[in-house]
Order: sequence, then structure tokens, then C-alpha cells
Amino acid sequence: MSIKENLNNIKKQLPDNVRLVAVSKFHTAQEVIEAIQAGQTVFGENRVQEAAAKFDEVKKSFPNASLRIIGQLQRNKVKEAVRIADAIDSVDRIELLDEIEKQAAKIDKKIQVLFEFHTGEESKSGFEDPSLIVEALQKIKDGAYPHIEPRGFMTMAPFTEDKNLVRASFKKLRDLRDQCQKDFPEFDLSELSMGMSGDWQIAVEEGSTMVRIGTAIFGARDYSQAKKD
Ligand SMILES: *Cc1c(COP(=O)(O)O)cnc(C)c1O
Repeated sequence: MSIKENLNNIKKQLPDNVRLVAVSKFHTAQEVIEAIQAGQTVFGENRVQEAAAKFDEVKKSFPNASLRIIGQLQRNKVKEAVRIADAIDSVDRIELLDEIEKQAAKIDKKIQVLFEFHTGEESKSGFEDPSLIVEALQKIKDGAYPHIEPRGFMTMAPFTEDKNLVRASFKKLRDLRDQCQKDFPEFDLSELSMGMSGDWQIAVEEGSTMVRIGTAIFGARDYSQAKKD
């Protein structure tokens, strides 16, 4: 199946209100361009250096391509992330907001963020303590981060055959979103980035607004060339 066929196959199953983030990590600029030519506009990458090299090239021909950072972000990569991305979906600690604000202010760019919440036993990324997310939102509300726009939440479900655990993980994120939205009505926190190639149907049933799909679009990733970011 081609990238185009894979995209069309997923898109016809997605409800209109759910956006598709095509996760292009470990795939080439040429494959990204193939997806763009098939109508895809939003991409996800989890390693900043790889993403910057690829999207600097892609954006020469397709300046409207939009990039979201979905992987754990080190402080020294934030400058580059803010330059190339429109959104950082994997904010997992408050200190990261300080650096995102600092770098976004320098280039006067408003950047959207999602808070990554740890909802499943096996995954290791994301805020463990929801009260820290509340603290971060309060700081944004108090004006500490004028270049940061909070838009919602992200999670990775555990890698397990047990669909109930996967579903419980997505539910947990939705409950957090509902509570935070109630506590912070001044923000639009509606986005729930949840669901990957293996579990996106369950995520959609549980209220995902944004699925992050790589393998089912681009095929298996070749990790043999992996460099450390
Ligand atoms: C790689 C990755 C995805 C996509 O995974 P697939 O199983 O290939 O669809 C989604 N989210 C994050 C955070 C990722 O790192």
C-alpha cells in the first residue's frame, strides 16, 4: 500500500472532528512530501535534530506543512524546536515552559503546547502528578508565559493487548482535561492527543481530537540508522 492509500484508508475512518497527525520520525523528507501531495498537512516528530533537517527541506517547497513535537524534549533542544514547530505536545515538566517561553519570546512566536500526562503503567513519559499541570496552567493564567498557548493534553497508552487498560488510560486523560477545563475556563483545553497506529480506534471512542499515526501511514520504521538526538 502506498502512503496515499494508507492516508485515505485512515482518513475515511476518522470522524470529522478528529485530526490526523502523521508521525514521520525515521522516514525521509521525500516520504513527508509524498504525504503532503496526498493532502496531509500536519506531521509529528519526536527528535528535534532529525525533524529540523527534514522540515527545513520540506518547507522550502511546502511552507504550510505544520510540525508538532511529540517526543521528550531536552532543554538544549528547545530553541530549535520552537523555531521549526507550531506546537509542542510533549510538555512534561514546568521548567520546560520557562525555556519555551524564553526561546519563543526571542523570535516573537506564539507556540501551542499540550501537557503530556502519564496515564499507563508501562509508559515512562509525562507528568506523573496532575497537580503540577494545574500549577503550570495557573502560571500561564498569571501571565508568566505570554508566548505559550495551552491547548490540551497528550498521552501514550500502555503497550498491551489488554484493551481495557488502553481504554482506561485514554479515559484518565479525558477526565483530567474535563477537570482542568472546568478549573480554567479562560483557556481552550479541548485537545486530546491520544491514539497511535495500534490503538487509535479506542482513542477515538474515548474522545481523542488528534491521533498520532506513523506506522500505519509510512510503514515500519528502520531503526538501524538511528542516531542519538
Ligand atoms: C512514534 C510515535 C507515535 C506513532 O507510533 P505508531 O505506532 O508508529 O503509529 C505516536 N506518538 C508518539 C509519541 C510517538 O513517539
